[in-house]
Amino acid sequence: MSDPNKPSPMMQQYEQAKAACGDAILLFRMGDFYELFRDDARVVAEKLGLTLTSRDKGSNPIPMAGFPYHQLDGYLAKLIKLGFRVAVCEQVEDPAATKGLVRRELTRVVSPGTVTDHELLDPRAANYLMAIVEDGRGQKLRSNTETGTIQPNRRFGVSWIDVSTGCFHAGELLYRQLGDLITRLAPAEILLADSCTFAIPETGHEFAITRQADWASTFKHAEDNLKRHMSVASLEGFGFDEDLHLSVRAAGSIFNYLRENQPSVLDFIDQLQRYTTGSAMEIDQATWRSLEITRTIRNGQREGSLFGVLDRTVTSMGSRQLAEWLAAPLTCLNAISYRHDGVGELVEKPVLRKEIRGFLKATYDIQRLLSRISSGRATPRDLSAVGTTLSAIPDLKAKLATGTSQLVQDSFTAIDPCIDLCQRLASTLESECPIHTRDGGFIRQGCNAALDEFRDLARGGKEWIARYQQRICEELGISTLKVGFNNVFGYYIEVTHQHRDKLPDGFIRKQTLKNAERFITPELKEYEDKVLSADQQAFDTEYQVFCELREAVSARIQSLKCNAQAIARLDAIAALAELAATNRYCRPCMTDDATLEINDGRHPVLDITQPLGTFVPNSTRFDDDHGTIHLITGPNMAGKSTYIRQTALIVLLAQIGSFVPASSATIGLTDRLFARVGASDELSRGQSTFMVEMSETARILNTATPRSLVILDEIGRGTSTYDGVSLAWAIVEYLHDRIGCRALFATHYHELTQLEETMSRVRNYNVLVREWNDTIVFLHKIAAGAADRSYGIHVARIAGVPGWVNRRAEKILQQLEGTRSSRPAVGLAANRSNEIQLTLFNSPPHPLIEKIRRLDTNHVTPMSALEILQQWQSELLETETPATSHSSPNMP
Ligand code: ADP
Repeated sequence: MSDPNKPSPMMQQYEQAKAACGDAILLFRMGDFYELFRDDARVVAEKLGLTLTSRDKGSNPIPMAGFPYHQLDGYLAKLIKLGFRVAVCEQVEDPAATKGLVRRELTRVVSPGTVTDHELLDPRAANYLMAIVEDGRGQKLRSNTETGTIQPNRRFGVSWIDVSTGCFHAGELLYRQLGDLITRLAPAEILLADSCTFAIPETGHEFAITRQADWASTFKHAEDNLKRHMSVASLEGFGFDEDLHLSVRAAGSIFNYLRENQPSVLDFIDQLQRYTTGSAMEIDQATWRSLEITRTIRNGQREGSLFGVLDRTVTSMGSRQLAEWLAAPLTCLNAISYRHDGVGELVEKPVLRKEIRGFLKATYDIQRLLSRISSGRATPRDLSAVGTTLSAIPDLKAKLATGTSQLVQDSFTAIDPCIDLCQRLASTLESECPIHTRDGGFIRQGCNAALDEFRDLARGGKEWIARYQQRICEELGISTLKVGFNNVFGYYIEVTHQHRDKLPDGFIRKQTLKNAERFITPELKEYEDKVLSADQQAFDTEYQVFCELREAVSARIQSLKCNAQAIARLDAIAALAELAATNRYCRPCMTDDATLEINDGRHPVLDITQPLGTFVPNSTRFDDDHGTIHLITGPNMAGKSTYIRQTALIVLLAQIGSFVPASSATIGLTDRLFARVGASDELSRGQSTFMVEMSETARILNTATPRSLVILDEIGRGTSTYDGVSLAWAIVEYLHDRIGCRALFATHYHELTQLEETMSRVRNYNVLVREWNDTIVFLHKIAAGAADRSYGIHVARIAGVPGWVNRRAEKILQQLEGTRSSRPAVGLAANRSNEIQLTLFNSPPHPLIEKIRRLDTNHVTPMSALEILQQWQSELLETETPATSHSSPNMP
């Protein structure tokens, strides 16, 4: 007798699979369903609203839930969105042809960083899986989250891959650069070794963290696997020299994870690109956020960001390419000119641009299809998309042939129309293909004789019977002969008794009725076999034709990959040309020095979002005459932030290969761009605004070089006025004396404008306003010289602050200005080692102080002391009450 407590063989198989997939939810294929058991069933049933039932309903029921197999994609998508890793265990034998238990295998484990399904991916954004490894040499790195101190110069290996496109990178960087990279790439999942203890820098970006056994990222293991996979004797060919152990370990960690979880995608990965810091303009995460490069600060949306206005691409591939360029602006003059030349040609040739964009519009996202093709998961619609894309290529190529810029010519050379494959796809696939092979009907008539016959049989059973009946009626001379069907013995020929003798040999009697007899013939049986299984056979044959086609596409994967890259690059360049042509951008002249001259520059976003012609252009010029540190003063709302941001964005645009919103520009290569703009709300990240402001400033002061561009807005505002002015003052000195970079410093502290007198490269600028009818008009124009006042109260009035507060503030201001002591001493500023004495204002002593001072306590009785106290209290209250305080002469 079997032990009732012993799990069934199938449940044993399930347990084995479950043990192998770690913490992933296991979808276990059973016939036409995927089933979940135990905790997986409970959790998923609750989250996705599946019915929770049980298996082995006896004394030991096992919770179970499931869904039909064809709903896999939808459920996978939902589970991944909920943050689960999901393992899929398939039947790898045909149940019909297997006696006993069907063999099952874990075929893939899907996680946020390894999805390739359309439903889960944003077509316009890359989806990265990242691995980070720490330098294990020397002392063990510990995060020191309790004290908040982390070794910023500790080296790390980092690697990332977009599994949906096969784009794979690895490199090394310092801990302090890690957060910047995470901000720029926004990975969906990060792999860490089990023993890793460092804290991933806070970026505000969400990702899943997956732990791996330590051995997966050991150097030897990683190097061996990568070399074997890439079929190379050494990784040096990819730029990974002996001393790049950390990079190789990180790449190996990704490789190992994919091999364990999605082995099929590895076939698609044949390159590993080396990432080096410094090969692109460095943009730290604060700058990335402050400049609103891909998302706005206000609502985190793409719309309103630089990328929002830049992205005029017509394909998802182009859009992702442009985002990649934006994340890594170039620092090599030749590489920048290569892109500028391409943009220039398409600006000058609007017809060519329009035609190229027209052809590109007809293409599909083949970059993402390729990983599905090579992993054997492409659908008929995917192959049809490859066909449609290829069919647009000959015309596109013909247009590119007329191009003169190197980029357009290179695109011409790189694109392979794959004519044979294109023709085969066109002649094999129907023009409208279903998403799933199970729906059938996607292979054209005439492609495969067997398929046509099966379809004919399935479709034309009645016609064949009619023809057969007519034929044997005529051959035998029996006009009443009929062909019929029943479930007992299938197709039969029925003849009345009177014609029975006319039947030749080979008619086998199956049934006798009152007036007639029923026969079968070998021909009829053969037909019956065919017809009854025709549907299944049509399906199987169609699937086989499809697999052969998929193989044929897979065999051309390298050409298709090059096509995808060329299309992406071309689309990005054509989009920049479209932007430049429609918004009057100019080609910047790039130089290998610290020049920066922008004439009539405009903010790329406001220029487009504000009503046409309302944005006021401004020029910027850094050189010996015009200084290299500009202090910009002016009232709130005058346009200081806009102006300094626009300068940074113009430099950024130029270095990604774009033209710029200006009448002309000369831009010296910038190695690092820093922007500390406004007080972003970091309280949700557990840090005070001022702390964040100072950490970001520290980062700038510690890492900026003479070739950097620094944009600072209102530094020091998060603390008291004295602190703030002192810090801002010292920061300008440091930028001027120690770093010597180009800097734009927008400030409210008018005291700072005195720095122009003592520092040779500091210049004052202000944003012009005009006073008109007791209010002010913002002219948004930058002019040389310092602003004379702040106009804060005017701005408060415009903002709707109650009149009483405005009037009272005017009075207080007059009194403060009357009592303000000397401004910071210029003499001391010259001697920067001394402390700067700043006395902005002294409050006059309160009249009660004098009364207290004069009170003779030796001659006051307790009773009168109480009265005096009461009187003082009421005096005090009177001066503090708004309803009466305006009449008080003493309070500021
Ligand atoms: P500030 O930093 O001086 O407080 P902002 O740069 O934030 O001022 O500008 C305030 C608003 O003024 C912007 O939102 C924009 O609408 C407008 N503005 C700024 N600069 C310009 C300009 N050059 N042309 C037209 N409008 C501008």
